[in-house]
Amino acid sequence: MTDTPLDEAEELLRALSARLTDPAEGECLLCYVHRMLEHGCHGLRWALRYRDLRAPRATALERRLQQRGAFCDCEVFLNAYQLQEEHLVLGALLDVGGFPVGEVLEYPHPMPPCRGVRAGSTRPCALWRRQHLCRW
Ligand SMILES: [Zn+2]
Ligand SMILES: [Zn+2]
Repeated sequence: MTDTPLDEAEELLRALSARLTDPAEGECLLCYVHRMLEHGCHGLRWALRYRDLRAPRATALERRLQQRGAFCDCEVFLNAYQLQEEHLVLGALLDVGGFPVGEVLEYPHPMPPCRGVRAGSTRPCALWRRQHLCRW
């Protein structure tokens, strides 16, 4: 069977979207997952994609994240890790009607550039810190 132009177009689109969702050179797991969340959260899809592409030997990553309360990509930032406070910016706290009622620390847009990690690592770069929600 020969390739039709449609096959070629689909192949091109696939290659293009793969490149758009690839981790950047030296980019850490958390900066990557945070960046990809703009495409939506579907389980630990982005974390596992990073693992598969960058750190295939990190077979315990999924379990490690789940132990920290992250059962999907957005929960990584709700339960497991957060941006170091020095990088947070002051934003307006809005009430349900959209009126500012105070100020709140939030993530900057755009995010600071990843500080980088060595190849094969699933560790976060220096922008992130562990959340400690449970103190026994
Ligand atoms: Zn989620
Ligand atoms: Zn990073």
